[in-house]
Amino acid sequence: AYLFKYIIIGDTGVGKSCILSQFIDKRFKEKHDVTIGVEFGARMISFDNKNIKLQIWDTAGQESFRSITRSYYRSAAGALLVYDITKQDNLYLLAIQIQMQFLLKRRESFQHLGRWLEEARQNGNPQMSFILVGNKCDLEQDRQVSYEEGEKFAKEHDLVYLEVSAKTAYNVEEAFKQTAKMIYEK
Ligand code: GDP
Ligand code: MG
Repeated sequence: AYLFKYIIIGDTGVGKSCILSQFIDKRFKEKHDVTIGVEFGARMISFDNKNIKLQIWDTAGQESFRSITRSYYRSAAGALLVYDITKQDNLYLLAIQIQMQFLLKRRESFQHLGRWLEEARQNGNPQMSFILVGNKCDLEQDRQVSYEEGEKFAKEHDLVYLEVSAKTAYNVEEAFKQTAKMIYEK
């Protein structure tokens, strides 16, 4: 069997840990302890009669730029670059709305994608396969980033793109599988 190491990157709160537990344990774990450090989970997947073991690393509480160590990226074959298609927190947003920063703030995780990608490409293996993941697509009523905007970013940066929901499990399996196929075919 093959063993692929994945990493999950993106701003705090976009749902990285929830995507991981949906993939590993097949359940939506609403609250994740913010332990500082790096955690990982492992699971087997199969496609085209191949068995592949995925070892997936998740950052916890250290997502700010430049605080993730180079070694986190180094041996990764694949990366899920995650943003949140919605606003993050209603009360928090109400407060900022008053300060007129509403529009800026709620699209933040999408606007940071370029920087995450740059950091991963600088520190990682040049062969690393990326998939762009717009999470929380169950919250259609709160959407702030359109499907087309995500698609456009993905095209510009040569990424595979999927919208997912860690809550309903929509496309979660697919995101990991598509990345495994990309890695396998390289
Ligand atoms: P992380 O900081 O990127 O690891 O984000 P978490 O996985 O801790 O998730 C942050 C918050 O978003 C939590 O309150 C989750 O319950 C919520 N969340 C994560 N994924 C989804 C999703 O797909 N749908 C909805 N509705 N909420 C989600
Ligand atoms: Mg987390």
